[in-house]
Amino acid sequence: MLAIFETVAVTLWLSKGNIFYLFNFSYIGCSIALGIFLYIREYRHARRIVQLLVGLYMLIYLGLICGENMQIEGFWYYLFTGVFEAATIHYAVAKIFGPLIFGRGWCGYACWTAMVLDFLPYKVPAQPRKKLGWIRYITFALSLIFVAALFLAHVGNLEKIMFWAFIIGNVLYYAVGIILAYAVKDNRAFCKYICPVTVFLKPMSYFALLRVKCDKEKCVSCGECRKVCPMNVDVTDNSRKRENGTECILCMECVKNCPKGAL
Ligand code: SF4
Ligand code: SF4
Ligand code: SF4
Repeated sequence: MLAIFETVAVTLWLSKGNIFYLFNFSYIGCSIALGIFLYIREYRHARRIVQLLVGLYMLIYLGLICGENMQIEGFWYYLFTGVFEAATIHYAVAKIFGPLIFGRGWCGYACWTAMVLDFLPYKVPAQPRKKLGWIRYITFALSLIFVAALFLAHVGNLEKIMFWAFIIGNVLYYAVGIILAYAVKDNRAFCKYICPVTVFLKPMSYFALLRVKCDKEKCVSCGECRKVCPMNVDVTDNSRKRENGTECILCMECVKNCPKGAL
């Protein structure tokens, strides 16, 4: 994983002539490598450490200090300006092409929204999944319409607007995410029903190279993996069409809790 991030870091540094990319992707790669090391050493908070290291760096340093909008509206903004910088690079690596390799690793190890939601008490959903996934398409469309309208209306000072959109957007995400988590007793309800980024993440992660697989010879169908999964994935089905397969955030809770070591 570190090698992948170092390759991205060096490629972007040399192609864009900006040493920031070397620092940025090396930092993220090292954080993930540390998490993998801690996971191998069976440290139970390994994933949370990576989530805090990467999530806080992106939220505080890149978002608040450097003023880069890394939310979906920031992606549309850079896309419309035709610049392959900041949010467009972030989306390409973490949310569009990266998931072809590491699936929704972003959601398990780096997202600053989930970083906070994962502190809430409902680590495993206490209620059956709702049929509310359609909301994500509305939030996705709204983010696109918002940025397109700014461009069409030739609004000035777009950088400042994007900065404030980042702050207000995050406050809204946290508020809605926390209220929804308590309402449906599920920390990851925001991820399942509302997050617009999943419109990219879900189809791309369908083809992910990195997946949790089940050894059918060892599995005794005890159902423990299903019970501990925050995303309601049927991980005992090895097909790509497994139930909620594109929701897997690679948190490894199922692997840690399988009594037969089948995952
Ligand atoms: S689904 Fe959205 S909010 Fe949830 S972890 Fe992924 S990117 Fe973050
Ligand atoms: S926890 Fe392990 S043994 Fe039990 S159903 Fe899941 S994969 Fe099979
Ligand atoms: S518990 Fe297993 S199947 Fe569920 S999200 Fe985590 S890694 Fe994926």
